[in-house]
Amino acid sequence: MRISVPRESAPGENRVALTPEAVTKLGVAGFDVSVERGAGVLAGFPDELYADAGATLADYGHLLDGAEAVVRVAQPNAEEVSSLREGMVLVGFLQPLTDTVGIERLRERGVVAFAMESIPRITRAQSMDALSSQATISGYKGVILAADRSPKLFPMLMTAAGTIAPARVLVLGAGVAGLQAIATARRLGAVVSAFDVRAAVAEQVESLGAAFLDLGVRGEETEGGYAQELTDEQKRAQQAALEERLGDFDVVVTTAAVPGRPAPKLIPASAVEGMRPGSVIVDLAADTGGNCELTEPGREVAHTGVTIVGLTNVPSLMPADASRLYARNVSALLEHLAPGGTLALDFDDEITGGACVTGRPSEVAA
Ligand code: NAD
Repeated sequence: MRISVPRESAPGENRVALTPEAVTKLGVAGFDVSVERGAGVLAGFPDELYADAGATLADYGHLLDGAEAVVRVAQPNAEEVSSLREGMVLVGFLQPLTDTVGIERLRERGVVAFAMESIPRITRAQSMDALSSQATISGYKGVILAADRSPKLFPMLMTAAGTIAPARVLVLGAGVAGLQAIATARRLGAVVSAFDVRAAVAEQVESLGAAFLDLGVRGEETEGGYAQELTDEQKRAQQAALEERLGDFDVVVTTAAVPGRPAPKLIPASAVEGMRPGSVIVDLAADTGGNCELTEPGREVAHTGVTIVGLTNVPSLMPADASRLYARNVSALLEHLAPGGTLALDFDDEITGGACVTGRPSEVAA
């Protein structure tokens, strides 16, 4: 089976769907890979490394020749979709819950599309869980950004010139990104607190050496382990509790999300105004609008001396390791869809059926 890897077209996307390491492994597993020239450059993987790994390098005009599947990071634009053939397999972050136009375009084209976001979070699919691998990168980088923007040291320092108190960090949302943010902030020596509406995570937060902040709000959990959106009354209670507590922290890293919904607004402007000048908020939910009312997605802004970092697509700021992990997730999915390099789609399988967002090929053709 031939797989094609295009250069990403989305602005600011530095990652690549397959690394040279993944190309070598897929070669052994019975796949043949063609890579668009320059596809890995921004992630630190030049064309020569792909050629050494056994890939065929091509310009976009010939990239899809003989290919049965296209693997990418972000969803293709309209022009790219028009170059896909009926029956072709497509794998990527396709935003199935929010980009209904894009998914419909793929369906109309007859493409059999698998969204990395839709892979069920079951033990058998853990190696394919790209939401987790990329959230891990986000959580780490979010804290590094915060440490860089903060005028304070993170660790406690006892020096001849006296003692510096450690930074106090609050992490809001303790899912995959939040737990990695806690671990990273702890490694840098900060004193860390965290909050999540899912009460079950309190133990995980504490096992990482952070304190669970009780804001008096408890949310419901879906069957898949995700948070449900809070009621309006709970939202108001959470905002009020945070307004009271936020001034205790030097740094806030927010990761709160509800799948398919805009990010919950946890931090009102009044709570930011209650923070000390020099405090930093890194809003890792900026891609879906942000957890802070003052976040401007894609930008860093200052408000009453508080820096609010709303950079989007944070995993793309660490493109080498983000691509390494993503490529392993994609490879695991490909080996599942095409064991031994031969496409064998079983839509009754929980992973294949769950991840396919355009419907079975017969339905697509119909
Ligand atoms: P996510 O990115 O959808 O959300 C991030 C966090 O925000 C979640 O912990 C959520 O509870 C929290 N949140 C939502 N609304 C909030 C609010 N108003 N205030 C504070 N926090 C709020 O979630 P995720 O990180 O992708 O993972 C969520 C769940 O999936 C977890 O239970 C995780 O353990 C589970 N998971 C399971 C597997 C598996 O293989 N079984 C793999 C990865 C994740």
